[in-house]
Amino acid sequence: MSSKKYVYLFAAGKAEGHGAWRNLLGGKGAGLAEMTNLGIPVPPGFTITTEACVEYFNKGSEFPDGLWEQAIDALADVERAMGAKFGDAQNPLLVSVRSGARVSMPGMMDTVLNIGLTDETVQGLIRKTNNPRFAYDSYRRFVAMFSNVVLGVSHDEFEALLSKKKAELGVELDTDLGTDDLKGLVSAFKELVRHASAVPFPEQPMDQLRMSIDAVFRSWNVARAITYRKLHNIPETWGTAANVQAMVFGNMGSNSGTGVAFTRHPSTGERRFFGEFLINAQGEDVVAGIRTPEPIDQLSQEMPEVYTQLVDIYQRLEQHYKDMLDLEFTVQDGKLFMLQTRVGKRTAVAALRIAVEMVQEGLIDEKTAVLRVEPEQLEQLLHPMVDPSSTVKAIAKGLPASPGAAVGAVVFTAEEAVARGQKGEKVILVRPETSPDDVGGMHAAQGILTARGGMTSHAAVVARGMGKCCVVGCKEIVVDEEHGEFRVGTLRVKHGETITLNGNTGEVIVGEGKLVTPELSGNFATFIQWVDQHRRLGVRANADTPTDARVARSFGAEGIGLCRTEHMFFAEERLPFMQEMILAEDRNARVRALDKLFPFQKSDFYGIFKEMEGYAVTIRTLDPPLHEFLPKTHEEAEELSQKIGVPAERIWDKVQELHETNPMLGHRGCRLGISYPEITEMQAHAIIAAACEIVKEGRKVVPEIMIPLVVDIRELEHQRQIVERVAQETMAQYGVKVEYQVGTMIELPRAVLLADEIARQAEFFSFGTNDLTQTVLGLSRDDAGKFLPSYIEQGLLKDDPFVVLDQPGVGQLVEIGVKKGRAARPSLKIGICGEHGGEPQSVGFFHRAGLDYVSCSPYRVPIARLAAAHVALGKSLSDTV
Ligand code: ADP
Ligand code: MG
Ligand code: MG
Repeated sequence: MSSKKYVYLFAAGKAEGHGAWRNLLGGKGAGLAEMTNLGIPVPPGFTITTEACVEYFNKGSEFPDGLWEQAIDALADVERAMGAKFGDAQNPLLVSVRSGARVSMPGMMDTVLNIGLTDETVQGLIRKTNNPRFAYDSYRRFVAMFSNVVLGVSHDEFEALLSKKKAELGVELDTDLGTDDLKGLVSAFKELVRHASAVPFPEQPMDQLRMSIDAVFRSWNVARAITYRKLHNIPETWGTAANVQAMVFGNMGSNSGTGVAFTRHPSTGERRFFGEFLINAQGEDVVAGIRTPEPIDQLSQEMPEVYTQLVDIYQRLEQHYKDMLDLEFTVQDGKLFMLQTRVGKRTAVAALRIAVEMVQEGLIDEKTAVLRVEPEQLEQLLHPMVDPSSTVKAIAKGLPASPGAAVGAVVFTAEEAVARGQKGEKVILVRPETSPDDVGGMHAAQGILTARGGMTSHAAVVARGMGKCCVVGCKEIVVDEEHGEFRVGTLRVKHGETITLNGNTGEVIVGEGKLVTPELSGNFATFIQWVDQHRRLGVRANADTPTDARVARSFGAEGIGLCRTEHMFFAEERLPFMQEMILAEDRNARVRALDKLFPFQKSDFYGIFKEMEGYAVTIRTLDPPLHEFLPKTHEEAEELSQKIGVPAERIWDKVQELHETNPMLGHRGCRLGISYPEITEMQAHAIIAAACEIVKEGRKVVPEIMIPLVVDIRELEHQRQIVERVAQETMAQYGVKVEYQVGTMIELPRAVLLADEIARQAEFFSFGTNDLTQTVLGLSRDDAGKFLPSYIEQGLLKDDPFVVLDQPGVGQLVEIGVKKGRAARPSLKIGICGEHGGEPQSVGFFHRAGLDYVSCSPYRVPIARLAAAHVALGKSLSDTV
């Protein structure tokens, strides 16, 4: 019985696989296949598929049938291509086993290099290369890496032995170690493994290979990889491919080296070859950030021919993939080999610039450009940066690995960053060097600062992918975790002290730097114009004040989808009138207090209408329960009593009277306007009067008056009659006519079920998905914090339903509401104004459900616009991760 094909060869200029098969071969495997087929020099090897990994886990960590046999066959092809034999004492072939999932997870999973070395084969390697130093350098690397990845011996223990050796010899760099030193290290390492590992170090190359493949599969489930997948929404079920590839050696001497490069600048997007390399080193030295490498331009001095060839290759690859790529290469004794290519991670600024410039260069079209930027990424552009005109002096300067600004307290461990981050504290993670193990801490921190490491180190790449401000390779600082400080010369910065990082310049500032919001012009303006051409869904903002409205307009909001009138009552000079209204004994007293609120409301509405330049403004009548406006304590009641001259006992009695067991379902929304029609009267009067004034000035205005918490058509009728009567009176007073609409929020299940009836009295619906989520799931948002996180942790819920719309449940009700509403009134305008209006997945759903617009907080407007364009262009969720 022939087994399934698990192994795909790439050797001798031909690959069985294909660059498009990322799901099967992983990103790394697909890139290696593609480069091989393009005739680019790639060391031969084979890819074991992600399917094999999935089956490996299904079988309880065992290779699926036929896998090992197929691997042995492919290895024979690699041996032929290399003219060497794996495990041979005379002419040994060495290989690497490299992890590589569908999407890049930089440094999160494991790789083992130099497999096939034993006390016997190392002699063959020496004879073959005539370079004993190189052979023992490879051997000590192998013992350490294999023992760490496969046998689980801590990497630090090997590092400690290495440092001890260097200290003994009084040297600083690995490259200063001679043959005998390295040979001594191999023995010391093996001695360490004998004590530290339950499983002995395998002296058979085939065992080494099998165990390495097994470990690479298992590395799919190491803690940092799981954390990374959670943060980036990558399914647990995908698994990783394993690439077995002939070794090429960057550690053969001064005519060898290794590097990482990007076809454009990953932080700024600038069109220029960008990268770093190290002479006489192996690949992991660069990406692990152990030594700070040299900039790639320097390679044109040191190895001009290699540099020219590399430039030629990167240009060909970029033309071929039509995207910014990251590349890994190794030079073995003057000969260039490519080891990796994939679409490169980039910051939002870079993503925008690259997308726009590639359109201008004729490389991609506008649609492709729109799809190249992730909606969530845009948020980074709105993040504040250190004021470029501020003159605060920096204490040190490193490499600007990821832009933006970060202000926070200094912490030295990822664990502390996570712990304090969870409490909502702002911290900056300061480390001697970057490590992918810190991924959780990096996420929890505002920014990351390291003393060592380059712009292309794994952690720098991860930070850019997260959009975190990050400064690396800041050589002037000495991190002294033990004494709870880092030093710059004689200056000490203590644990817990506040510092500011400038990710645009690499500067480190003590204290809180001055931050400013960046301008959205240039590439952003060009890009967002393309975005708007490709979306159907309208995007409005939730805004309660003229200032918010202005911000919303500047982010491109096409109207206001929710203006919460109660927010106007909380201001210091207004709240007492509101309280007076609530404490009033009768209708007359209430009206007197409302009359005092009227001018404030009217002038706010006037300001908002003016800012919105004729775009629709949906104004919700008073919604929260009245106790929210009253004092919470006796002392506060005393204070209020002094201020408004109402006895404190009466205030306190009222507080008791208004107390509700479950305010979310209590006396609120239209229930207030029904109990106290004069509130709705005053609000309608203020809205229409402001609109009349705008019309009189010859401007356009489109007010939409929205009644909250309706469950029955009679409630809406009741409120609507008030609005219409007041509107007629007001317009007559001003002698002008205003076009306005009356509609309702759909935020309770009964309103959905009776949407066809309600639509007869409503010109528009706006789904209030916050309350709809609370009532459909029977889940109070304020109490959910106690158990929701554990639900998500345990996989009982995929996402927080208050962040990502619960499509199967709440979404179904939205669909029913749309269908019923439109059946009764085909012209019904439908929007949504919950938090979900700015969340990309949910925006996709609202587009498909046929809504007219979404409304979200002003800062999320650009995100919603881009998400709306992505769904209109047919991008599905699985394409985005
Ligand atoms: P990661 O995903 O962590 O970058 P890789 O599998 O790419 O892991 O390998 C780590 C480093 O080792 C990279 O710099 C890579 O170029 C290098 N490397 C991997 N395989 C080989 C090989 N066969 N010969 C030389 N260097 C290699
Ligand atoms: Mg790599
Ligand atoms: Mg509500």
